[in-house]
Amino acid sequence: MKKTFRGGTHPPEWKLTAEQPGEKLKLPEKVYVPILQHIGAPAIPLVKKGDEVKKGQPIADPGGFVSVPVHSPVSGKVVSIGTYPHAFGRDVETITIESDGADEWHENIKEDADWESVDAKTIRERVRNAGLAGMGGAAFPTHVKLSPPEEKPINTVIINGAECEPYLTSDHRLMLEKPAEILAGAQIVSKAVGAKRTFVGIEDNKPDAVSVLKKAVKDGKFDIKVVSLPVKYPQGAEKQLINAITGREVPPPPGLPMDVGCLVQNVGSCVAIYNAVRFNKPLIERYVTVSGHAVNNPVNLIARIGTPFSELVEAAGGYTKDAAKLLNGGPMMGSAQWTDMVPVIKGTSGIVVLNKEEAYISDEQPCICCGRCISVCPVFLLPTNIARLAEFERFEDAENLGALECMECGSCTYVCPSKRNLVHHIRFGKTSIMALKKKEAQQTKSKGA
Ligand code: SF4
Ligand code: SF4
Repeated sequence: MKKTFRGGTHPPEWKLTAEQPGEKLKLPEKVYVPILQHIGAPAIPLVKKGDEVKKGQPIADPGGFVSVPVHSPVSGKVVSIGTYPHAFGRDVETITIESDGADEWHENIKEDADWESVDAKTIRERVRNAGLAGMGGAAFPTHVKLSPPEEKPINTVIINGAECEPYLTSDHRLMLEKPAEILAGAQIVSKAVGAKRTFVGIEDNKPDAVSVLKKAVKDGKFDIKVVSLPVKYPQGAEKQLINAITGREVPPPPGLPMDVGCLVQNVGSCVAIYNAVRFNKPLIERYVTVSGHAVNNPVNLIARIGTPFSELVEAAGGYTKDAAKLLNGGPMMGSAQWTDMVPVIKGTSGIVVLNKEEAYISDEQPCICCGRCISVCPVFLLPTNIARLAEFERFEDAENLGALECMECGSCTYVCPSKRNLVHHIRFGKTSIMALKKKEAQQTKSKGA
């Protein structure tokens, strides 16, 4: 029997673009590059209006250890620095650059012929200098992940090729089109943290990717094991992937994969790590799936960071007449966008446009106590109880039931026959609990001052 995790669900896969190779999107005339594309402190702009920049040139410095630099995705001129809509759902300081069409690389982007012998410290430096943040959507700075504390050694690296979200196929195409780069990146990650075992986990609805990577492992003599996993949502969530492959259970928050000796990297991040270490290339473009039943020609695109969503949707043949909801990411964990002006960022794996029927617009009905939400929750919570407590603003009770452990996977909402938007209520509960904690900490601090 294949390895998997407990709980989870099976939404329709809708992998409409599985056969669509990554196509280079035409060079945008303007790119809108936010200084915050990662978890942590925003980067600090290094350029001003009117400055000429080259492709790959740093345009913002990291704002702390948990932060990454930002680079220009094109050569051209900085035309403005100011707030602009962002996929995180709020306006963010953004550097707008007008392309000069020459697409000229910055002089520092050069291959290191001796890249295979660089040490762990140099790997972390190059990864940080390249501005890498998790490309599976979590956007956590990669160099921080590659710097575990001494007391938490990593013995197992898992490369995440599960791609369990409906519609998304950008990782699938990357595995078919860049297998050697993924494996080289995986090897670099293992070297950086001193891991003894490296796995690539792929859901078995991608048998072509499994066989391409197995062949690449054999051809390249990589010491990496490719594992085929059953199709189940959310197989690609870090804790569930670790559990499926190693049987280890990551403790509840603040528990992290490093607590069980594991580190997970997305396949896209591996390619970016390889490019950073070998070529000193920063992260300025990525594979993005543009799909959903409300775009005319779903595609996989290779788009520059900073390109507005509208240009990607246009390349996918535009919206259909019944387009109802634009998502950054897939329908389970993606976030609804109010405008398609928002730009592609480092964590944009897909843009999905749902039609009216798919957008799941319906009135919530009372809970019928069927227990389905409980049976699918991959972290064994009581979603119906937590959601109700959050609705009644009983935040302490919601926290006691483990609200903060919810990873907002949406499985409970998906299976609920009463159309209860459980994840929405739980998210509200989590935000309120965190706000209360912050307020309490401030009050304690001011009393002590
Ligand atoms: S409670 Fe949270 S973790 Fe559990 S199924 Fe619902 S969204 Fe997922
Ligand atoms: S799935 Fe919906 S109806 Fe069933 S117990 Fe959960 S909240 Fe209630």
